[in-house]
Amino acid sequence: METYLNIKVSSYTYEGIIEQLDKRIATGEQSTIIAVNPEKIIAAQKNDELKTLINESTFQIPDGVGVLLASKLKNGTIRSRVTGVDMMARLLDFAAEKGLPVYFYGAKEEVVTKAISSIKKDRPNLQVAGYDNGYVHDEEKLVERIHTSGARILFVALGSPKQELFIKRNLANLPNVKVFQGVGGSFDVFSGTVKRAPAIFRKFGLEWLYRLMSNPSRIKRQMNLPIFLFKILTDKK
Ligand code: UDP
Repeated sequence: METYLNIKVSSYTYEGIIEQLDKRIATGEQSTIIAVNPEKIIAAQKNDELKTLINESTFQIPDGVGVLLASKLKNGTIRSRVTGVDMMARLLDFAAEKGLPVYFYGAKEEVVTKAISSIKKDRPNLQVAGYDNGYVHDEEKLVERIHTSGARILFVALGSPKQELFIKRNLANLPNVKVFQGVGGSFDVFSGTVKRAPAIFRKFGLEWLYRLMSNPSRIKRQMNLPIFLFKILTDKK
């Protein structure tokens, strides 16, 4: 585990996290996975609730090249990204292998159903306990549906921090769910609604550049990266 501007970031790889989750499931512990990037770390500096939300999670995965750069600058040990969408894919493989039922909550109806069919196509053994789109309004009934579905793993795709707040509110209401991951726009990716950056961009950690080229208005969000790196460099710790 490493800390950047008082925000925890896990130094586990995908395999390391799956191994830890396997152990924690065996002992009945619940785990939460949150993706951390420069944008969230900057936002958390002025938002104690977000800071607590991140730091109280079991795994803060280094999603985004910014955290990697910070680790290099500070002689840390994080050398590869753990992205939300790839973590979700690994967890789905793990769930299929172990027979752990999964529940999908979030995104538009058409997106979540398409995502499930594409996920099932690649993993015929996967047990889908159920799903709900991200625009349902009765949270109590929704939580009851998840609870009675027999789900052991829950993916929440409402965007951040909405999804993490949902998980925090309902962790105790869902004692049989052992793994919670806030996955942002991942259902959009699995459904094919949103295309990932081409492999060449991914290989060089330039997904941000691809996204910026396809959507120049992201420049505002991406300005968080230089701000973050500057803060890291001037941070005494
Ligand atoms: N979403 C939802 N309910 C809401 C708001 C958003 O289900 O009330 C979904 C939206 O349809 C999209 C995802 O949440 O699938 C948001 O993804 P985004 O890429 O904005 O999240 P990020 O990864 O940037 O946090």
